[in-house]
Amino acid sequence: MTANEIRQQFIDFFISKGHTFVPSAPVIPQDDPTLLFTNAGMNQFKDIFLGKGKREYTRAVNSQKCIRVSGKHNDLEEVGRDTYHHTFFEMLGNWSFGDYYKKEAIQWAWELLTEVWKLPKEKLFATVHHTDDEAAELWKSVTDIAPQRILKFGDKDNFWEMGPVGPCGPCSEIHIDLGEEFCDLKGQEHTCGVNGDCGRYIELWNLVFIQFNRDENGTLHPLPARHVDTGAGFERLVAVLQGKTSNYDTDVFMPILEAIGKMVGQDYRQSDEQMAFRVIADHIRMLTFSIADGGMPSNEGRGYVMRRILRRAARYGRNLNMREPFMYKLVPTVVQMMGDVYPEIRERQEHIMAVIRAEEERFNLTLDRGLEIFEKIKEDLKSRGEAVIPGYEVFRLYDTFGFPVDLTRILAEENGLTLDMAGFEEHMEAQRKLARESSKFVMTEGEQQWIVLNEGADSRFVGYDELAIETHIM
Ligand code: ATP
Ligand code: MG
Ligand code: MG
Ligand code: MG
Repeated sequence: MTANEIRQQFIDFFISKGHTFVPSAPVIPQDDPTLLFTNAGMNQFKDIFLGKGKREYTRAVNSQKCIRVSGKHNDLEEVGRDTYHHTFFEMLGNWSFGDYYKKEAIQWAWELLTEVWKLPKEKLFATVHHTDDEAAELWKSVTDIAPQRILKFGDKDNFWEMGPVGPCGPCSEIHIDLGEEFCDLKGQEHTCGVNGDCGRYIELWNLVFIQFNRDENGTLHPLPARHVDTGAGFERLVAVLQGKTSNYDTDVFMPILEAIGKMVGQDYRQSDEQMAFRVIADHIRMLTFSIADGGMPSNEGRGYVMRRILRRAARYGRNLNMREPFMYKLVPTVVQMMGDVYPEIRERQEHIMAVIRAEEERFNLTLDRGLEIFEKIKEDLKSRGEAVIPGYEVFRLYDTFGFPVDLTRILAEENGLTLDMAGFEEHMEAQRKLARESSKFVMTEGEQQWIVLNEGADSRFVGYDELAIETHIM
């Protein structure tokens, strides 16, 4: 089964249960200032949950383009390190807007996974919120899952919210046990289990029972109607259904990894730099889709997140000896794979390539010099027997060489060093002050929307003098 077939089977299954197919919303939210990037399938239905909007259907199915590199859901640190968190991924989902509730949601998810797709029941687990006896009972009565495979967890894992404010509720999740050999923390103290720390158990699908809205004060208010909102990780399902244990080994990623391999003259599977391959393959999808939907790398807010992602990938390119712009050349591969399902990337291919190429050129101008400076800093520390990069050096790399702090952190980690973040903050604050004193900028409305510094409750328009300092927030 190809990835494209799997996506279609999910959609067709729910259409057969009376759902209407709804196309993915853009990854750049159109009218939600609390969100930098679309981070879940439910974002575009938020107004319905809040009782503010209506559609002509009460059941929906879709595959939503999601990006999780900011705010409440930020997976950047895992990407490339593990094999199942991506910056950009597709979330398959089915919805009930005041229509069916827990029973059907549980029954159909189980039916699709174990009857249509024939996943082994003895490898699956269902989790429920520790207060949700109703869901626990339903798992026993409407599915044939073994009762000891139904587990209870608390808010952290079984209460879902898109951000600090908005619709939310208890959830029930389906996880798969890949087998003992996938515990990558053997011998170390850790939780080896569902929602544990190692790579053995992977979360596949989250069934959220939306019944509250959380307000700015953190208080939960019951919603006028109860809804179902589910999200299944497409790339993870593809991996499991294709018998792979890494998302990168599926046809979602292999063509990109092969294209990278051709360019750098190495084979992903043989390479000592597999993480670099994975990071680049992941990040090019994020960049392609965010630019297609209207995003632009820049110095603030959303644009700065995009710039950080590009620079992170460009630096990993150096590990594969790529010194000239190369990422833009991967865009046609992404378009070839996904352009039928998401035509916007095909329509804007030229634009996407031009933007990425220009960004790569710009960064390359200073990257080598910055890496040299980093080497010097490192040697200096070594000779003094120290392991913390002073704040002013972190600041200098950022300010003069365009190194986002997370890039410096990657370099530091690779060399067993840490960063003095407090010192960095002091230098940032000093710069902010200078900017405040020296410039009187006038913003147009269009520009202002780029300057929401963080998502959710503490989102605020901060004006010019706090621009470009998002590095440390995320
Ligand atoms: P995890 O615990 O693995 O980080 P999550 O609980 O944060 O996942 P949800 O918010 O419940 O994820 O999203 C629904 C589904 O989307 C998950 O069950 C998972 O299959 C998938 N998913 C979540 N984050 C990612 C990601 N960064 N990359 C790929 N798939 C993801
Ligand atoms: Mg997560
Ligand atoms: Mg989870
Ligand atoms: Mg989850």
